Amino acid sequence: MTEPKTLREACCADDYDPNSMPVDRARALIRTFLTPVTTVERVALRAALGRVLAADVISPIDVPGHDNSAMDGYALRFADLAPAGETLLRRVGESFAGKPAAASVGSGECVRIFTGAVMPAGADTVVMQERAGEDAQGVRIAAGAVTKAGQNRRFAGEDLKAGQAVFAAGQLVRPAELGMMASLGIGEVPVYRRLRVAFFSTGDELKSIGTPLATGEVYDSNRYTIYGMLQRLGCDVIDMGVVPDVPEALEAAFASAAAAADVVITSGGVSVGEADFVKQLLDKLGEVLFWKIAMKPGRPLAYGRLGAAHFFGLPGNPVSVMVTFYQFVREALLVLQGQRDVGPLPTFKLPLTTPIRKAPGRTEFQRGVLSGDPANGYTVRTTGEQGSGVLSSMSQANCFIVLPTATGNVAAGELVDVQLLDGLI
Ligand code: AMP
Ligand code: MG
Repeated sequence: MTEPKTLREACCADDYDPNSMPVDRARALIRTFLTPVTTVERVALRAALGRVLAADVISPIDVPGHDNSAMDGYALRFADLAPAGETLLRRVGESFAGKPAAASVGSGECVRIFTGAVMPAGADTVVMQERAGEDAQGVRIAAGAVTKAGQNRRFAGEDLKAGQAVFAAGQLVRPAELGMMASLGIGEVPVYRRLRVAFFSTGDELKSIGTPLATGEVYDSNRYTIYGMLQRLGCDVIDMGVVPDVPEALEAAFASAAAAADVVITSGGVSVGEADFVKQLLDKLGEVLFWKIAMKPGRPLAYGRLGAAHFFGLPGNPVSVMVTFYQFVREALLVLQGQRDVGPLPTFKLPLTTPIRKAPGRTEFQRGVLSGDPANGYTVRTTGEQGSGVLSSMSQANCFIVLPTATGNVAAGELVDVQLLDGLI
């Protein structure tokens, strides 16, 4: 199937049904409209943590730079070792890490050597110190201390060769990548600029922290979860506050968000009833599709363009916000950041310990608790009450239990799909 080039084309596809949009279809459609950022910045190595490499990283040096010892012991010539019985050698020097031996190893000789120290010229093998002893006669190597030449010796370029590509553009820089680049002596790296993401909450009933609540009012929590999730993904955030359900106020907010950011995220205002006037507004400002996703929670979702910005209109319910963010927005943001090999949250199967009631027809993302240990195996259960307003379920959960559209009730003991949230919530 060829993917649509424009949002209008997307609406003409045979299988396009905005009132029952499968999760995977919506995800795939969104993917077709994403063009990663291209602006590159050079930053100091530490500042690259959490950023995306904008160019391949080529090793300027061999790692390790020299043949060196993998053990504390004695560097010697394998050919000198007696085929049976002990071998007596003469010690001619020491090689410390960072302080190589001056002497080279001739026949019948050895050099005391420490882990990471450069192999002295002439030696080809290291015997670990536990298999050797020193006395007035010299160094005694136990019979069978090594079985072949080259043992306990690390070779220059064994990890990386000069000129070899270490990382490809699109690699997220994590602690391991920081360490790798440091080991190559790279102090500055090209990364893509951060994504700018503007967000606001909509709803007349919402109040910001610090204002007393009148009957029927609630504190705006979505702006805080969205802020947290965006920070975790390394975005520059623009918090635009609460916007009341007033067309002029919303229009002004949409317009200034779109002008300031690469991505605009709102919560609330996309459910049936509310959607109509929001839809008219967004049609005026850009091109936005409204979907009823066949999922629970998180049924209403809007996606499109506002000027040059991508727009995600998330549902208002606090749990729905987090679920739709992790199923749709997260992946889109990673692609826009320039990351390679982006996919949905990794999914694996675990046995369920408590039964789940479910009607076929929608994909459910229940909040789950994964527990257990390596010896007895891991299992998963739900957090209990799954209402889309019960934000505490997100806090208790460490995973989503994903129940596919066609699935009905699930019995205890059955395997279910689990998406780990550790480090995300
Ligand atoms: P809506 O999608 O706007 O109809 O909102 C659905 C439900 O989520 C309503 O009960 C809202 O009060 C609640 N809600 C919407 N936005 C927020 C928010 N930013 N913080 C907390 N609750 C919200
Ligand atoms: Mg609302």
